[in-house]
Amino acid sequence: MNQKFYSIAIDGPSGAGKSSLAKKISAAYHFLYLDTGAIYRTVGLAAYRAGIDRQSEEELSSILPGLKIEIRYDDTGLQRMFLNGEDVSEAIRMPEISLCASDVSALPVCRAYLLEMQRRFAREYNVIVDGRDIGTVVLPDADLKIYLTASSEERAKRRLLELEQKGIKTTFDEVLKDIEQRDYQDTHRDIAPLRKAEDAVEVDTSHLDREQSFEALCNLIESRLPVKREETA
Ligand code: C5P
Repeated sequence: MNQKFYSIAIDGPSGAGKSSLAKKISAAYHFLYLDTGAIYRTVGLAAYRAGIDRQSEEELSSILPGLKIEIRYDDTGLQRMFLNGEDVSEAIRMPEISLCASDVSALPVCRAYLLEMQRRFAREYNVIVDGRDIGTVVLPDADLKIYLTASSEERAKRRLLELEQKGIKTTFDEVLKDIEQRDYQDTHRDIAPLRKAEDAVEVDTSHLDREQSFEALCNLIESRLPVKREETA
């Protein structure tokens, strides 16, 4: 008999807190966390390094067959991204790579290329997957779909703090501009635009701190799935 694996989809705009919450949830419930933005970022980095036009379907198609993209997990369960054997987990977080990821992710050839890679995880593990089209396209049958959002100013504030902690220098205005540009691109593209799935539960974290957001999601998860939280998480 096939084992039943549970899947939780978290979609929402950049900086809504998807990845930090998904990481915490994956630890609390022993689910595998798949950060799909990191996969698009890896393609974005490859396009950036190749110096191609990142909005050209044709140019991206010409480099895709030569890319070896691997997702590995370290001993602590953290996802690492590899591009042709090189660990690019830090390089893909550079601010200039965010927009590259957003550019390539609007191309159908890129989305088609990455679709199966993402679905495979949900067939083989209990997963929490975050992205933009997880509930709508990648895992339309997910057991729970969450649409996580917050105001753009609040998201920019959080992203700025995160970048500062990593020693990356930037300003609030730059981060806000980047977030608003990515929101626009991600919601207006023709293919798999960011939108709330009809059966997703919307959680607005503008006025919630990290702990309150975490509790809100845990309550949702436990009301829908037969899973229990690890006490220490
Ligand atoms: O989530 P993160 O900000 O790392 O994602 C980087 C970019 O990758 C997003 O702005 C979005 O354009 C794209 N993306 C996507 N679909 C996903 C995840 C990310 O189009 N499932």
